Amino acid sequence: MTTPLRYSDRDIAQVRDLNPIAHVAQDLGYKLELRGEGEFVIPCLDSLDPETRVAFSMSLVPARGMFYCAHCSAGGDVITLVEKDRKLSFAAAVEYLAQRAGITLKAIS
Ligand SMILES: [Zn+2]
Repeated sequence: MTTPLRYSDRDIAQVRDLNPIAHVAQDLGYKLELRGEGEFVIPCLDSLDPETRVAFSMSLVPARGMFYCAHCSAGGDVITLVEKDRKLSFAAAVEYLAQRAGITLKAIS
């Protein structure tokens, strides 16, 4: 097993800044449904309504770069969204987003 790569806070901040969460969500195949001012709804990645078997809705707020599910408390930033959607490790999600934005990462030990 190889040691997972780590990246500097600066690289990770740049990855977040250059990957707006709404754009990334659309790249991942989500249709963003406008809910209110500056807020969109996408299906929750973690929870289905036990009766209807339909995913609960969660909020995606581009201005804050965050998503949040009021039902199961799943949530996070653009990196978390990629981790959960693609079932990737944190480092692999950072790499996915770096590649998307044309950022060259420097691994630290
Ligand atoms: Zn949820």
